Amino acid sequence: MEKRKTSRRRRRKIQLTPFQTVVFTLVGLCLALGLYVSVGSGVGTAPTWDEIYAAVGLAEPLPADDLPENTDAVHFIDVGQADATLLQSGGEYCLVDAGDTDSEQKLMAYLEERGVTHLKLLVMSHPHADHIGSMAAVLEKIEVEQVLLPDFDKAPYPTTRLFEKVMDAIEASGAVVTTAAPGQSFSVGSGSLQVLAAGVETDNYNDLSQVLLFESGELTVLLSGDGEKPVEQAALEAGVVPQADVFKAAHHGSDTSNTMEFLQAIRPRYVAISCGLGNSYGHPHAEPMERFEQVGAQVLRTDQDGSVVIAATENGLQSYTSSAAGEKEAA
Ligand SMILES: [Zn+2]
Repeated sequence: MEKRKTSRRRRRKIQLTPFQTVVFTLVGLCLALGLYVSVGSGVGTAPTWDEIYAAVGLAEPLPADDLPENTDAVHFIDVGQADATLLQSGGEYCLVDAGDTDSEQKLMAYLEERGVTHLKLLVMSHPHADHIGSMAAVLEKIEVEQVLLPDFDKAPYPTTRLFEKVMDAIEASGAVVTTAAPGQSFSVGSGSLQVLAAGVETDNYNDLSQVLLFESGELTVLLSGDGEKPVEQAALEAGVVPQADVFKAAHHGSDTSNTMEFLQAIRPRYVAISCGLGNSYGHPHAEPMERFEQVGAQVLRTDQDGSVVIAATENGLQSYTSSAAGEKEAA
């Protein structure tokens, strides 16, 4: 009797609860992975992320192209030394700026590949060529429900031929046209785009740029076009600058913008810079790059990473880049 009791107790000791089984399995997998990595590195052939994922039986991270249509995401489309930002929510889209004239093919191909045939909203941050260059093409090829324009009462009215062409295309499209004003909110899928500020009185078109907040599910994105210090200062003084996960570096990462006060109010987790490789402006400038680092943001840039996508996934926010080098970083 006494013997049987003892042996039963012993047997119970080595029986694992489901929780213990899971813990031991995970520890085992980690040890196996560590061994696999160290052996792999030892012979000079470190395993790729794909191999590591395969070794531990996990699926590879989802490439941005395969994200479900109802994902909350922001796309900083690689349009060289220009700007085109696509906001996505619940299968609906908003495009903020439309690159320069040279990037028309790239921009249209990007939109077509993702099945963007309808824009809930098209925003013109300000009337410079690197933001409106392919806007007429977008209006001609994609159905646009509403267009948001800068407040042209705050600056001399633009007279360039490109601007006139865009305004003609807007009129021909039949889209509803709205002039930006603080407090406006536009729905995009299950999210919204809010106008926090709408430029300052200026003769510098950069400072017509709105300060916009896109909020959808777990994703918040702050955009301020090419707004310079006066735009940032005015928004801070009005007390409308919120914390946001993602910030598009203002004015392509120029030192005319991206002040420390502005960045400290936003506290972005990601800063995305839209600029062209070896551009003549020297964008992004060294000083704002230091400030992005100081606020602890991860910097992604279209000149090095290609198009950048930041999406809300079941594992939290995830960044994806179209260049091979960037793809690995995103993993
Ligand atoms: Zn610009």
